[in-house]
Formats: sequence, C-alpha cells, structure tokens
Amino acid sequence: MSSFTAPKGTYDLIPPDSAAFTAVRDALAAPLRGAGYGYVETPGFEHVELFSRGVGESTDIVTKEMYTLTTKGGTRLALRPEGTASVLRAALQANLHRVGNLPVKLWYSGTYYRYERPQAGRYRHFSQVGAEAIGAEDPALDAELIILAAEAHRSLGLTGVTLLLNSLGDAECRPAYRAALQAFLRGLDLDEDTRARIEINPLRVLDDKRESVRRQLTGAPMMRDHLCESCKAYHEGVRDLLREAGVPFTDDDRLVRGLDYYTRTTFEFVHGGLGSQSAVGGGGRYDGLSEMIGGPRLPSVGWALGVDRTVLALRAEGVALDLPSATDVFAVPLGEDARRALFTLVTELRRAGVRADFAYGGRGLKAAMKAANRSGARYAVVAGDRDLGEGVVQVKDLASGEQAPVALTGAVGELRQRLG
Ligand code: AMP
Repeated sequence: MSSFTAPKGTYDLIPPDSAAFTAVRDALAAPLRGAGYGYVETPGFEHVELFSRGVGESTDIVTKEMYTLTTKGGTRLALRPEGTASVLRAALQANLHRVGNLPVKLWYSGTYYRYERPQAGRYRHFSQVGAEAIGAEDPALDAELIILAAEAHRSLGLTGVTLLLNSLGDAECRPAYRAALQAFLRGLDLDEDTRARIEINPLRVLDDKRESVRRQLTGAPMMRDHLCESCKAYHEGVRDLLREAGVPFTDDDRLVRGLDYYTRTTFEFVHGGLGSQSAVGGGGRYDGLSEMIGGPRLPSVGWALGVDRTVLALRAEGVALDLPSATDVFAVPLGEDARRALFTLVTELRRAGVRADFAYGGRGLKAAMKAANRSGARYAVVAGDRDLGEGVVQVKDLASGEQAPVALTGAVGELRQRLG
C-alpha cells in the first residue's frame, strides 16, 4: 500500500468491478445513440458564474457543494457539479441552434464533482450519462427522453425503478403559485434557513425531508391546482404518450428537484433498494435556462442518470450483467523459441479480433496455467520446443480440460471458428 489513499468521498474503479461500471455506462447511453442524439464533451471545469447563474444562486449545489478555484491569472473556475449548464453553453457557443435542426439533441458521459457529505451512494466524484434536447417545446420530446431512460433501465434488467412525474408550471402560472405557497409557508413554524428559503425558492421547501417540516406541509397549495391551461395540456400530453408507450409513472406533487432551472415537466427515477440516496436519475424541462446564461429563448428538456447508483441498484436487485470475459485465449509458452512463436500468434489473434493474452515474465508452467484460468479465457494455447518442431500448438479447453494439437499456421482460423 502507498502512503496515500483516495480522497474522502471518492473511490477507485478497479477490475473486475470496473467492467460492470463501463457496461452500465454504455447501456445508459445506447438508447440515445439510436435516437438521433450526438455525443458532446465539455471541459471538466467552467467559469463559476455559469453554474451560479445557470443552476441557481439559492441551490445547495451552488452555495455549498461547488469545488471552486482561482487560477494564477485570477479567473474563478468551478469543477462541474452537473452537465446541463455546460452542454447548453457549448451548444450556444458553437451556434448549434442556428446551423442545425431544432431540437439539437446531445448526449454526454462524464464525471461530476460535489462537495457533499459522503454516504452510501453519495460521492464527491461521481459519473453521469446525460441527454439534452435543446430548442423545442413538444410533449413528445419530454416523453422521448423519459422512454429512452426507461429503456436503458430495462435493457440492464432492472425491475425496481419507479418513475416519479410532476409539472412545475411555467412563467405564466408559476409566479401566482409561488406567491400562494410563500403566504402559506410564512405562517409555519420553521427554522431560520428554511424561512430564508421561502423567500428565495419556496418550492424547494416542499422537498424538505425532515418530519418536523413535512408534518406542517399538509394542506400546502400544490402546483397541480395552479397550472395554467397550456401547462395542463402539455403535462397531459406527456402523460398520454408515456401511457401509450407502456412506461408506468407515479404522479408526485412534491417533486421539485434541487436545481432552479426546471419548468413544466420534472421527473425522477428512484430505486427502492438504495436507502436514502434512492434517485438513480432525474431531469426535466428547462425553458428559461438559455436566457439565464445569455442565450436566446430555447425551450429544452434533458436528464442525467447516475452511473454509480445504477451499478448499486443492479447489485441491490442481484442482477449480474452478462459481461464478455476480457480474454478468450491465453498463450502459455514453454521455452524461448515458443515465447517468440506464441507472442506472434497472440498478435495475430488480436488482429483477427480475438481477445488474447500471454503469460509474461517467464514463469513456470504451473503459474502460467493458473494465470490462464484466472484470466477467464476459454482456451489456453500451450507450446514447447517439441510442439513447435512438429509445427503444432496444444489448444486446451479450460472448462473441460480437453487438449488437442492444432497446426500453428492454422491456429488463428481454428480458434476463431471455435469461439464463434
Ligand atoms: P442531479 O444532477 O442532482 O439531478 O443528479 C442526477 C443523478 O446523478 C442522480 O439521480 C444520481 O443518480 C446521480 N448523482 C447526483 N449526485 C450524486 C452523488 N453525489 N453521488 C452519486 N451519484 C449522484
């Protein structure tokens, strides 16, 4: 062990667990690739103001959880705490909304940083796969994104994910609702921080998990009763399309989410097997965000799915992913001539698309066969001077133990055929 360990709230991804992690990441992205979303990658850090304006001055993410730094040149930067603001910034900077069709559909995958109190499923460095559809207001687009996320969960074999759905209204109906909610909340017995929140972002008080607060929220005015006609129709449109697609959902009036930019559709995917950090993903519509960061009006919708927590959800359900083994063929040379011949064979196998590995380090037969078994390979190719003299290698099926000589010149073809 070195004298260093990974910083608090972080963990290393190492084999064999890392194989499940990358498979989950790929599976979350796969439905997007098939639905017209293009890959976007943005820097790991941005100007602090992008997040303070974009995510919201009153959010925990901005006030408490951002990792910020000042460069030697005096520029204030923040490690990205989430993806949406950066992706929209990149799309605007590249003028994607002018040169291409609307909506601009983008997907991304990366690591995000929040200075949170670490616990099971909550880390300071975590991974998300995200999708944003920028520049269109259409219930079918909201439904598309939700369906694609549900499809990703289904493809992984997850069965315990619940979709919570709500509408937060828009610039027309939310102000009156906000005022009604503030009037109600001001009459409650709340601590100083929560009272301050009433004035900045009262909707987030509805999301308070403390029993002492929840008890007092009975009878609070709810957005659903204040939605304007167009928001109501929009929300019904999304719900209809989800029903039609056979994607079950649960209406959740209290779902407001921790970011300020959401309007209309908001949703969260939660999993029952994860304890208090139950959200495996979430998102919604953010019609005002582009203008908040200095762009034109571009109504948009997106989501981010947590890779770490999806891995935990699979574990909680006992779902083992069907992962291909890293190695199909493991070569074990006995002697110097065999080393050269088998190393060449391994290179040829790899060029032919066969996953192959080699017993490095000149260890004895016993240790090399142990390495072959550990590698998960289906076949070991063993050869000594006598075999090579006869122009053959021994191909051993590591599951059955059966072994037979195969001509060295035909070994690549034979192994490819056996591996299908
Ligand atoms: P958010 O950007 O907060 O909407 O988060 C989207 C998803 O990312 C959540 O549903 C989680 O699955 C995941 N996530 C957010 N924060 C963390 C964290 N600190 N640790 C692990 N996963 C997280």
